[in-house]
Amino acid sequence: MSVYFHADISNEKTWERDTPCLCTQNSEVFCAAMKRVTADLKASLRIAANPLCSICKGIGIERVKESDAPFLNLANENARLLFFALGLNKETVEEELWGDLTTAEARRAVMRGKARGSLKPYTRPPAENRRGGGSVLTVGCRWHDPGVSEHGMRTYIVRFEDFLEEAISRGATRIWWD
Ligand SMILES: [Zn+2]
Repeated sequence: MSVYFHADISNEKTWERDTPCLCTQNSEVFCAAMKRVTADLKASLRIAANPLCSICKGIGIERVKESDAPFLNLANENARLLFFALGLNKETVEEELWGDLTTAEARRAVMRGKARGSLKPYTRPPAENRRGGGSVLTVGCRWHDPGVSEHGMRTYIVRFEDFLEEAISRGATRIWWD
């Protein structure tokens, strides 16, 4: 699960584009189509598609909405650590990880985070049961959870600030996350 940050910008541009449906992911043309769905690729995707697919109805192409709005997406555990590092208290950060701030409050939070001498309390070790480098072996698959180092937390604060400043430059007065 992850936390998605949004802002109330007034000049969001949205558009739609074609992308290959996941039911075609084992086909030879899938990777090329991820870059751009050309007329040739469209025909191949239709052949590769599952005719019973509920998403694309068998045409192999999905229409997705794109946006130029600034956003930030963090894994739940990392977002929780970031909120603590920014000094956001529990009234602001609900257990379910949703909430909002004015951009002025968010800027103050960034200043608090950047002013901390040590970010050690806001780190976490790589996942347990790891097989080196944070790789976690489970039945059938392996995922990577390297934890969050102090440098990693500093990077999260900078990414949060980048998101916030871009939002402010586009007229945002409020951010929220869910
Ligand atoms: Zn499909």
